[in-house]
Amino acid sequence: MPREAYVNGRYLPHRAAQVHIEDRGYQFADAVYEVVPVVHGALVDEDMHLDRLERSLDELRIAMPMSRQALEMTSRELMRRNGLTYGFLYMQVSRGVAPRDHKFPKQARPALVMTTRQTKPHSEEMLSKGVAVITVPDIRWKRCDIKSISLLPNVLAKQQAVDEGAYEAWMIDAEGFVTEGTSTNAWIVTKDNRLVTRSANNAILNGVTRLALLAIAESIGVELEERAFTLEEALEAREAFLTSSTNFVMPVTAIDGRSVGNGHPGLLTMKLRDSYVSYAMGLARSGDSAPAVPEVEARACR
Ligand code: PLP
Repeated sequence: MPREAYVNGRYLPHRAAQVHIEDRGYQFADAVYEVVPVVHGALVDEDMHLDRLERSLDELRIAMPMSRQALEMTSRELMRRNGLTYGFLYMQVSRGVAPRDHKFPKQARPALVMTTRQTKPHSEEMLSKGVAVITVPDIRWKRCDIKSISLLPNVLAKQQAVDEGAYEAWMIDAEGFVTEGTSTNAWIVTKDNRLVTRSANNAILNGVTRLALLAIAESIGVELEERAFTLEEALEAREAFLTSSTNFVMPVTAIDGRSVGNGHPGLLTMKLRDSYVSYAMGLARSGDSAPAVPEVEARACR
């Protein structure tokens, strides 16, 4: 089935889809985006993703390109055309097309692009080994809460991770605290079994997976601390993991070449992963993208 993309009102063959050379996203990174996971052909936590899209746009004073209902219908139509069953929907909204000039253009209309990608679930082998992360200084701007397409520091850090044989880079702020990964949120489980992740402010992107997992963890009685943790604390942790729309919950078993805990994915980590997967599949089955009560029992399916 030939893949299609949605570009400013038209469904086009993916390989022929283009935006104007003076799109402000292209020239200034004056744009925001969302990545929404798809399981069993259904969007997971669509409402939370659209809430965050609206918030990012608001912060940059860019208007919604169409009503929320129209956005929902357009994304479903693109998914239908592409036969998307498992993977993700990507949406990007820029301030629009205008002659290059830093100040906001008077005339431009927000430009919307949507694509889908069919992927495969992470392999059992990857999940059973966990992944390695390296750490790098966090050199980003002070509004990481906005899901802007301006991702150069993240791109450089991720490439450094790949060059060093790791999966992800965790960024460290000027005080020595872990902020987040290049496209993931960072979590640890302390020796006394407390789940710790940085509280959401302008230093991190408030992940939708992060929000869903916090609710799941609370519902199954996990002791939670939303606070910053240092690299030293992470190295001493019993378990570590990362979360995102494309990773769900991924165990981290090495940081900067040193094993986390016993070097294997942690028990709580895998329980949280199973609970999250059950939650996402439950949403897909019910066709409901509002937060639901997660199934407490860990499921075999990963
Ligand atoms: N942090 C950053 C910097 C990201 O880019 C992302 C996702 O792209 C996340 C965290 C995880 O967010 P989500 O769970 O909504 O995918």
